[in-house]
Amino acid sequence: MKLPSLNIQILLSAIFGVAIGLYFHALSGGNPATEPYVVQSGLYVSGLVGTLFIDLLKMILIPLVFCSISVGIANLRQHQQIHRVWITTLAFFLFTMAIAITLGMMASLYFKPGSGLQIHMFSNAMQTFATTQLSPTDFISQFLHGLFVNPFKALSEGNVLAVVIFALFLGIALVMGGERYKNILSMLQEAQEITMRIVGWIMVIAPLGIMALLIKLVATQDAAMIGTLAKFMAVVIGTTLLHGVVILPLLLYLIVGKSPLWFWRGAREALATAFATSSSNATLPVTMRCATQNLNVKPEIAGFVVPLGATVNMDGTALYEAAAALFIANLVGIELDFTQQLIVFFIAMIAAIGAPGIPSAGMVTMVLVLQSVGLPAEAIAILLPIDRLLDTLRTTVNVQGDMVGSLVVQKLTLKELT
Ligand code: ASP
Repeated sequence: MKLPSLNIQILLSAIFGVAIGLYFHALSGGNPATEPYVVQSGLYVSGLVGTLFIDLLKMILIPLVFCSISVGIANLRQHQQIHRVWITTLAFFLFTMAIAITLGMMASLYFKPGSGLQIHMFSNAMQTFATTQLSPTDFISQFLHGLFVNPFKALSEGNVLAVVIFALFLGIALVMGGERYKNILSMLQEAQEITMRIVGWIMVIAPLGIMALLIKLVATQDAAMIGTLAKFMAVVIGTTLLHGVVILPLLLYLIVGKSPLWFWRGAREALATAFATSSSNATLPVTMRCATQNLNVKPEIAGFVVPLGATVNMDGTALYEAAAALFIANLVGIELDFTQQLIVFFIAMIAAIGAPGIPSAGMVTMVLVLQSVGLPAEAIAILLPIDRLLDTLRTTVNVQGDMVGSLVVQKLTLKELT
């Protein structure tokens, strides 16, 4: 019997995952203490399979990032080209994050989620939540400090951003050394091919992994909390979708001339993986594969833009951080003036850039946004129960932004490359 294509398998498994998750949720009434045996064992197996899938992706992540960036940069050859790619990439990342934040803030100001609720309704949750102080200046210096790390330490600890930076230096050194380092370059090139081959094997179990992750996610949601925060969730989901379904495809169409359907066909493996894992980092191997193999981005561009984007370019996270700050302001009954809104805008961007591409990272860096305008950081506790659910969509849009970014950068710098 011939199996359907990987894309179809992944989409079907995502649908089955959500359906089985809902069924388990209904069986246990959302209460883990009264779960029937079938749900318990189902959740155990899906937890195991889902974690194994993420482990496999993480296993290949660091070697892949290291080789792709150094080889990618080395293949850009001239300094001028690196310069142009670098500037265009950062400009695009900042531009799309700014649009996302604007959308999130405008919708929050218009719909005012949280204004009917009061913060004392959540005092129990907030009491059990300890926050650490994080000032914007400390955060920025911590972030910058984390960029330059002993590469062996960064590689062994899976510190993606520091690996990206070291690989960048290595790539530039390879360019400047030219013929002299040709052996190291071809070794890295071969290593990169090997890592992509292994990604191909991991993708064989992607449908199972995605289904398992979604079963666990849907079955263990807290329905009562979702009801209370429904309006806020609707604003976040609506604007995130608007960004992912309208804004990014529009930019892609205007700049690159490619249709949304064409993009969706090439990108869906990565989008589904991002949705199920809620981690841009874990999805990175799949994102690279989609960008280079399906969307025809040259490896030297994808090798640079995609891994960098996975940790700094987070449209969904930026939007969420800004919308959540305004939501909490409504809860505590504080009207933010224009200057405070501007502060939220910029700090949300810094917080999104600084958030690592792992599940719920945006929640941690949100402390920064809240504190910057004097909102209570403990209020994050209110959002924690719904975070895993919202993280699915914002990670998907984060990853989409990286792929769109690689296509845009390729288009805008192509003349230099040929
Ligand atoms: N989970 C997101 C990501 O990996 C980060 C976040 O929590 O917003 O892209």
